[in-house]
Amino acid sequence: MRRAKIVATLGPSSNSEEMIRDLIEAGANTFRLNFSHGSHEDHRIRLETIRRVSRELERPVAILQDLSGPKIRTGRLRGREPIELQEGASVLLSNRAVEGTEDILPISYPHLVDDVEPGHRILIDDGNIELEAIEAEGSDLRCRVLHGGLVKERKGVNFPGVPLRVYAPTEKDRRDLAFGLALDVDYVALSFVRRAEDILATKRLMAQEGKEVPLIAKIEKPEALEDLPAILEASEGVMVARGDLGVEMPPERVPILQKQIVEQANQCDCLCIIATQMLESMMHHPRPTRAEASDVANAIIDGADAVMLSGETAVGEFPVETVRMMGRIVQEAESSGRPQMTAGLPRRTPPTYAHAIAHAAREIAHDLEIKAIVAFTRSGFSARLISKERPRVPILAITPSDIVWRQLGLVWGVTPICCPFVQGTDGMIHVVEAELVARGLVQPGDLIVIMGGMPMTTRGRTNFIKVQVVESTGKIRMIRPD
Ligand code: PEP
Repeated sequence: MRRAKIVATLGPSSNSEEMIRDLIEAGANTFRLNFSHGSHEDHRIRLETIRRVSRELERPVAILQDLSGPKIRTGRLRGREPIELQEGASVLLSNRAVEGTEDILPISYPHLVDDVEPGHRILIDDGNIELEAIEAEGSDLRCRVLHGGLVKERKGVNFPGVPLRVYAPTEKDRRDLAFGLALDVDYVALSFVRRAEDILATKRLMAQEGKEVPLIAKIEKPEALEDLPAILEASEGVMVARGDLGVEMPPERVPILQKQIVEQANQCDCLCIIATQMLESMMHHPRPTRAEASDVANAIIDGADAVMLSGETAVGEFPVETVRMMGRIVQEAESSGRPQMTAGLPRRTPPTYAHAIAHAAREIAHDLEIKAIVAFTRSGFSARLISKERPRVPILAITPSDIVWRQLGLVWGVTPICCPFVQGTDGMIHVVEAELVARGLVQPGDLIVIMGGMPMTTRGRTNFIKVQVVESTGKIRMIRPD
């Protein structure tokens, strides 16, 4: 059984119902809807398809809404055709509504000449094209081309080391968020986070809509690294967004930063997703490079909860094969017996009853011949805590909430099971045992550890732990709510 989860980005290669079904069956646990591309109508259709297929297959699949944040992009080009920038040439960057040519390139940033100084570097299209700022010309910026190439419309533009005056969430993010919340997305990711306040501002917007959805901070700006402890405290998760991170910072720094971010996220009970170019060559080839296979395996050994596919599943030629391959690499890394580097590190958050119980559950599971840890969880909190303990045995999370059932699909090592809570802990244990036996997850005579809260009607109170011999024959089944 694979423990770390797979996030797959949907796009033109993977929008159809058939493809979504194939991706789920291949092992995708969460779909990312990238709000940098596509209309609300496109996203709504995808979301409804995912929900329908997930219900049909009885597989908990979470939907992650990825808000684009203040990404700066190239604007419209003459004839909508790419333009060639030649090394050594001079080009004007402009925020005016001009059509781009070899001489002038429109950029979606209004404070170019105020914020960018002579000598600053400007990187276009993941750093493939590099310019150097020379001087202001009115409201435009004269630049020299250091590394040339073909520039297309809507390509990302980065200004490494320049403190820009745009913050997440943007006006577009606000509209997109309201749309996503109305459709009950399971997670929201925010791009280009620079400070904890960006996260808190987004949470205030959620509260205005009467929603509280786990928020994932995409770490891709150097400023975010400076405020990482506060960002981790404010967020439910982080994504190591290595695409922009490796443009904003020297690429050679990314591997160690990845390890540091995973370590700190795990110490703060935050989800951690490693993203971008994990199996990039599989966009056009049926097999990955050996370096990519190593990259995925190393993310697992670092201690990531999930690994993410972007272009590979959104626009690649082999989306299903890529998810299967990623699953195989993860499973092989996990079965090596090599412990995750961040497992068992001291927590940064103050320990609570729930932390102590989760820790004890892991210890008991490892001391005795325990088959599974069963967590009764209303909000998903106890399941997330036991997941962070990285026990060797399966974590079976029993929740009455459909939303939590889907959200736990993204949590390391957790098999979510949705069922109504019945009155009384003994009655609940009885029903759950029967269900687990009926599903073949445990057998009569197996030892399990059960953790949860009493009374079970109260949220967020993990206060009991029990070692139990499974007695049920699996005759009583739970009924999953519609
Ligand atoms: C990244 O930059 O690595 C990333 C995940 O963000 P996006 O795909 O939105 O550019």
